[in-house]
Amino acid sequence: AKGAGGNTYRFFTPEMNARIFERVTLENSLRRALNSDQIAVHYQPQVDMHSGLLIGFEALVRWHHPEQGDIPPARFIPIAEESSLINQIGDQVLREACRQNRAWQDMGLPPVVMAVNLSAMQLRQPEFASRIAAVLTESGLDARWLELEITESAFIRDTERIVEVLQQLQALGIKLSVDDFGTGYSSLGYLKRLPFDRIKIDQSFVRDLPDNADDIAIVRAIIAIADSLQKEVIAEGVEQPQQIDFLLQQGCTLMQGYHFGRPAAAGQAEQLLRRMQDK
Ligand code: C2E
Ligand code: CA
Ligand code: CA
Ligand code: CA
Repeated sequence: AKGAGGNTYRFFTPEMNARIFERVTLENSLRRALNSDQIAVHYQPQVDMHSGLLIGFEALVRWHHPEQGDIPPARFIPIAEESSLINQIGDQVLREACRQNRAWQDMGLPPVVMAVNLSAMQLRQPEFASRIAAVLTESGLDARWLELEITESAFIRDTERIVEVLQQLQALGIKLSVDDFGTGYSSLGYLKRLPFDRIKIDQSFVRDLPDNADDIAIVRAIIAIADSLQKEVIAEGVEQPQQIDFLLQQGCTLMQGYHFGRPAAAGQAEQLLRRMQDK
C-alpha cells in the first residue's frame, strides 16, 4: 500500500490473494502430513577425499503430497518457518535421523556422523539443549555421531542467548556447523564468538569452480578463514571432477554433492555404508 500522497490503496491484488491462499492451503496440508508417512527423511553422503571414506550423511526432509506429489523443501520449509510447524517438522526429522543412525550402528555398519538441519526458530525453543539430549537418549545415539547445521541468519537476533545454547550443545558432545557460509549476513564476528566445529561452503560458490575468478577467490578465502580458526571445512554441491581437483588443491578434503551421491532413502544410504564396510 502506498503512503500519504499515493492514489491507490489496494492492499491485496488478486495475484497476492492467490498466493496467500496457496500458502494457507499448503500450511494446512503440511500440518496434516506431520507424523504421517508423507514426511520422510533422505540421506546424502559426505565424504573425505583424503581417506576416500564416507564420513557422514546430511538428513534432508522430503514431503510426498498425496495429490501434488513431491513438494521440495525450498517450497514448504519457508512456510513452516513462519509458524511453529517448523519445530514439529524439525523434531520429526531429528528423531528419525538419530533413530536411523543408531539402527545402522546396531547392524554393525561403520559409524558415521548424521548432520541435521536446524531452523532459527528451533534454536529458540526453551530448554533446546535438553530437548536434543532427550532425543539422543531416546534413540540411544551417542552425541558424537550427531551434527547440527545452522545458517548464519540464526545468529542475528539474541546472539548472547544463541551462544549459550550452542555451548550447551557442544558440551553434550554434538558437532556444530555453519551452513551456507557466506550467503547470509556474514559474519566473521559470529565465527569468532560462536562455538563451531565446521564451516560449509555454500553450493553457489562451488557451482562455477574452477572457471569463475570470483568464486575461486571466495572459496580460497573461506578455506583460509576455516584454517586459521582451526575449523573443519566442507564443500557442498560438488558435481564435477574439476571441482574436486580444485578443492583438493586448496586443502579442502571434505565434500558433499551429486558426484558422490544424491539424497536417497534410508535403504539406499545403507547400501553405501555396506559397500564401505567391505573395503
Ligand atoms: P541445504 O541445507 O543447503 O541442503 C543442500 C541442498 O542441496 C539439498 O536440497 C540437496 O539435495 C542439494 N544438493 C546436494 N548436492 C547437490 C549438488 O551436487 N548439486 C545441486 N544442485 N544440489 C545439491 P534440498 O534437499 O532440496 O533442500 C533444500 C533446503 O531445504 C536445504 O538446503 C535446507 O535449507 C532446507 N532443508 C531440507 N531439509 C531440512 C530440514 O529437515 N530442516 C530444515 N530446517 N531445513 C531443511
Ligand atoms: Ca544443510
Ligand atoms: Ca547448505
Ligand atoms: Ca543451501
